[in-house]
Amino acid sequence: MGIVQGVGFRPHVYHIAKTLGLRGEVSNDGQGALIKVVGDRSTIDTFIDKIHSERPPLAQIETITRHPLPQTDFSDFIITSSITNTVRTKIAPDAATCPTCKNEIFDPLSCWYPYPFTNCTHCGPRLSIIKKLPYDRQNTSMANFNLCPECQQDYSEPLNRRFHAQPTACHVCGQKAWL
Ligand SMILES: [Zn+2]
Ligand SMILES: [Zn+2]
Repeated sequence: MGIVQGVGFRPHVYHIAKTLGLRGEVSNDGQGALIKVVGDRSTIDTFIDKIHSERPPLAQIETITRHPLPQTDFSDFIITSSITNTVRTKIAPDAATCPTCKNEIFDPLSCWYPYPFTNCTHCGPRLSIIKKLPYDRQNTSMANFNLCPECQQDYSEPLNRRFHAQPTACHVCGQKAWL
């Protein structure tokens, strides 16, 4: 439990699990994030330590509760879609543009040059665009903006900085601003 939705938490868990060779899955649910993992006890201890120590900048972990799983197996570690149940999780506030996004906005060779609504999983709007939980794009005011192929690719790639960045947009597919 804590602030773990919309802050790059699932790809963070995915990355650590892959590095440690664990199998299982991670999803968002009404309580925060639900992780199912199969592996030996000491590797799982390391996995949980790393979830805390290497967490993404906007994530806040309040508690991690562990329960033994009934006989289950997984052939790989995967990120699954959200489970809708009783909502008790917290949501991140809007965050100022991160240094990496800022560099992209001012880089003439970047796709985000000079797009004012550039954001990623480490920055951008959260609370101000949410209509309901779980925090998925179709539950935000971004639901009406269909991702262009380039943004869709970033959004779908677990190790991309914009993986499941719900407000992600570019000058092709996102909101426009006029002066
Ligand atoms: Zn950013
Ligand atoms: Zn786009």
